[in-house]
Amino acid sequence: MVAPMDRKPHAPGAARAASLIFVIETLAELYPLGEPPTDPLEMILWENMGYLIDDERRAELFAEFIERVGLHPKKIVNASPETLLDIAERGGMRPETRVERWLETAHLALKDRGGDLAATLAALPPKKARGLLKQFPTIADPGADKILLFSGIAVQPALDSNGLRVLARLGFSAERSSYGASYKEAVQVLAAEGRPDRDWLMGAYHALREHGRTLCKRSVPICVACPLDPVCAHVEVGAL
Ligand code: SF4
Repeated sequence: MVAPMDRKPHAPGAARAASLIFVIETLAELYPLGEPPTDPLEMILWENMGYLIDDERRAELFAEFIERVGLHPKKIVNASPETLLDIAERGGMRPETRVERWLETAHLALKDRGGDLAATLAALPPKKARGLLKQFPTIADPGADKILLFSGIAVQPALDSNGLRVLARLGFSAERSSYGASYKEAVQVLAAEGRPDRDWLMGAYHALREHGRTLCKRSVPICVACPLDPVCAHVEVGAL
């Protein structure tokens, strides 16, 4: 295993040895997109299904939530508190907070169009839809951008924290003084150098996320197994 630290890391802003298109297409071969989620309410509930749990655990709890509660907001507000707490207790710390967030999500969705959040968002200009999404529990700029992209409401780039770290290490964006500033710069790079196409941007989100989870890990990146090693800037990142 060889870490970037063994490879003379470049400074932020180092010259890139490959285009963004090449990088994303290389990663997309490793991590195919499959059937992505497209419903905004499902994506919000998915994000709030657990605290510091992996995707496999999250998927198990989400399947149980669908079976025992259902995904329509009316079913969520009418579910028994014991059932909600029973599911939440297997999703990590502070289960009561999670139950409150599920109920808050359902009540917010029910404010318009009989709880059809997808229809409510689609009727708004993208900027207002983004603002509405950020009213939901735990949804900040990255989560709102992902939901807008995957639901087809806006064709604009999105990244999670894994993808942000990968782009920074490759030399496409820099780690700034705040997470928000780093995020803003990285999505601007995707917008400027990527393809303005929903499928391409969803594939980029997924491929960068999976690469950050499996090879370009936060603690020790496994560069020796990475197909991008020859073109990577190996920029050291601190908090990303
Ligand atoms: S992108 Fe690949 S080569 Fe670059 S730091 Fe991450 S794992 Fe290493």
